[in-house]
Amino acid sequence: MKTLLELIKDSPLVKKAYDMALLAHKGQKRASGEDYITHPMAVAQTVLDWHMDEMSIIAALLHDTVEDTPLTLDKIKKEFGEKVAFLVAGVTKLGHAKYRGEEREVENMRKFMLAVGGDIRVVLIKLADRLHNMRTIKALKPEKQGRIALETLEVYAALAERLGMYDLASELEEISFPIAKKKEYQWMIDTIKDKYEERVAYANHIKPIISKLLANNGIKFSKIDIRAKKLVSLYRKLLKYEMNLERVYDLIAIRCIVNSVEDCYAALGIIHKNWLPLPGRIKDYIAFPKANGYRSLHTTVFGPEEKVMEVQIRTAQMHNEAENGISAHWAYQKNKDTKNYIRRGIASFAKADELQLIKQLKDLKENPPNNEEFATLVKSDFLEDRILTLTPKGRVIELPSGATPVDFAYHVHSEIGNTCMSCRVNGLVSPLSTPLKSGDVVEIMTQKNKRPGDEWLSFVKTSLAREHIRKVQKDKNKVLYGETLKKYELRLIVEDRVGLLNDVTNVIARMKININHHESREDHTFANHKMLKIGFAVSNYEKSKELSEKIRKLKGVKSVECHPYS
Ligand code: MN
Repeated sequence: MKTLLELIKDSPLVKKAYDMALLAHKGQKRASGEDYITHPMAVAQTVLDWHMDEMSIIAALLHDTVEDTPLTLDKIKKEFGEKVAFLVAGVTKLGHAKYRGEEREVENMRKFMLAVGGDIRVVLIKLADRLHNMRTIKALKPEKQGRIALETLEVYAALAERLGMYDLASELEEISFPIAKKKEYQWMIDTIKDKYEERVAYANHIKPIISKLLANNGIKFSKIDIRAKKLVSLYRKLLKYEMNLERVYDLIAIRCIVNSVEDCYAALGIIHKNWLPLPGRIKDYIAFPKANGYRSLHTTVFGPEEKVMEVQIRTAQMHNEAENGISAHWAYQKNKDTKNYIRRGIASFAKADELQLIKQLKDLKENPPNNEEFATLVKSDFLEDRILTLTPKGRVIELPSGATPVDFAYHVHSEIGNTCMSCRVNGLVSPLSTPLKSGDVVEIMTQKNKRPGDEWLSFVKTSLAREHIRKVQKDKNKVLYGETLKKYELRLIVEDRVGLLNDVTNVIARMKININHHESREDHTFANHKMLKIGFAVSNYEKSKELSEKIRKLKGVKSVECHPYS
């Protein structure tokens, strides 16, 4: 396979992207002190290793330019076309989401990655980016390492795993686990290590026995290896089993790579004939692949010396898919002419009937799969009924499509919703009624004592926002008309003059009292005199007296009476 440097030599377009990235990042350094360009090059090399297309390699080279250099998306679009610009924009957007360790936000963040990526290539480039950042994380200050490692462990590694990229997932986990979970890591080292080495020795002893067993029964196999469970996945398993090591059976897994599907089942039969299987632990992922496309046979048996071991049996192709997941699918399909687009996004590169993952994504809309977790992961993208937006700090806020900044504000916090004044969407001042899109960064400006606008009800999309707005309105009405207020009527005799009525209403308005009704008629006792009746409501009698006094002082007011009114 070609290296990136060879590709730069051979492809003028990749060369152009490389030169542009080199120029844009000129003078910038990584935390390690290396020239910045080493990073996009490493990312592009990974993307190349995953057999992704030239556009992805170009986007990988340019992935940090828009965020960190004067280079613009428009320029990239002009030089490399719409698609490359779309990929770079996507990777940039994904970088805006930040996980800070809040359990309930993990799922939103994973969804954000897929939904906002919009195209699986965006997600893969982002994963390659994170891989290189993790490989070089030791160059960062310790306090910065923690957050990034935790985000990698909870979001990126989990995502890689769901995409079936187990090799990537386990490398990401292995680097991030000791940093993100220091105490747990130490506990594992102290508790597990001896047993772990013991099991590796046992597995090495078993290996030739199985080889011989399969060979004697005429099963063609290419490879048998032992897989010692990594500390981090063991830790996760232990959590599930109350830290009881005896209950974790696949501490060591024996993996047999055989030549055909038939041989998979035959090998399983021979193993069960020789060693008693544990009931309930036989899994046929060939007949029933996992949602991410994983295929293999698993069983757990009492092996030699009555020791429990897990055995996995699969073909070479299944093995490649298991290690490389979606990127393996990509490699198979790369040179085939296929036009199977599944909605926009994930599978524009694959022939659907051959690929489990892709197939299930396609079926998702009609037949929700049993694997609930995977369903929720991709639903937001494929059913397009949800959008994932971001706070300026990178927290993911999930909303129904068509939701507005007001909905967003209420979902961040009810008080932010209630006092929301104006907003910026992706840095631009926008109306509060703007329909938001996935990936939008929304900043809400609030003002103390601000109340929800009456018109908000006409454009909000979430019931959460609607309920809060209604509640505030109801409270307002209660203050104005409810039992807590007493109604009064002022009866004034005034000598009429220009502006008198205005003076009266000004006094009332300045005391922030609402007029409920008013009435004016000629008073026939004196010429040019009028009788005014003004109805209002206040919370206590003192306030009505204060109002009466203020009005009495106005020029032309002859007498003031204040009566309770019902
Ligand atoms: Mn980067």
